[in-house]
Order: sequence, then C-alpha cells, then structure tokens
Amino acid sequence: MRRYNSEGIDRGDVLLALNTRERVRLARRKGRCMVCLSPNVTAAGLCEGCLATLTDDELEAARPWIEGREVC
Ligand SMILES: [Zn+2]
Repeated sequence: MRRYNSEGIDRGDVLLALNTRERVRLARRKGRCMVCLSPNVTAAGLCEGCLATLTDDELEAARPWIEGREVC
C-alpha cells in the first residue's frame, strides 16, 4: 500500500527539500508534487494542496520558486 507513495518525501522533509534545488527541479521536471505526487505541480515542486499546508518557514523557502527568483 505504501509503495504507491514511495517516491514522495516525508512531510517533515519538505523544508529541506525546498532548500535543495535538485529536489524541486526533479519534481518540476517530472511534473509531480514531491510530497503527494499529484500531477498539478507548481513552480515550487509542490501541488496547490500541499502548498496550502506549508508552515511559515516552509512558505518562506518556497517563495523564491513561486515568485520565479529561482529558475531551473
Ligand atoms: Zn502535493
């Protein structure tokens, strides 16, 4: 059952992943959210649903991606 999500990262690793360009880049290239693997991925490598659950710290890390200051 858990295999389905085996490529997704743990929720607790989101902050680290957002600060790791390769992680975000990979999610964007695959077109899948790096947490839940939803295909509706944003520029931050997360889907809208996961973006909505980010903490302030995580949102801060995601902001450069969302605003296009970090480019692939
Ligand atoms: Zn997601």
